[in-house]
Amino acid sequence: MAEEITCKELVELVTDYLEEALPTEQRARFEAHLSRCEGCQSYFAQMRRTILLLGRLTEDTVPPAAKAELLTLFRNWKESGESDPPAPAE
Ligand SMILES: [Zn+2]
Repeated sequence: MAEEITCKELVELVTDYLEEALPTEQRARFEAHLSRCEGCQSYFAQMRRTILLLGRLTEDTVPPAAKAELLTLFRNWKESGESDPPAPAE
């Protein structure tokens, strides 16, 4: 049985996943986690919408600070028990 990724890893991989930049095995683990985790499903839906709006999201367009901010938002959201994911920073 493949090792499952964590919510934190999913957040870090979501842009690569949406750009189809993940290796097949990692992609399968990403999808396995997504299918079981409601929080990540909401987060994933929001990220996908954001990326569609922006057109393209790459490492160049997401500075490390913004990425860290997203991770913080995500962690706070998980701890708060809210059903809605945090809005991404403008
Ligand atoms: Zn998750």
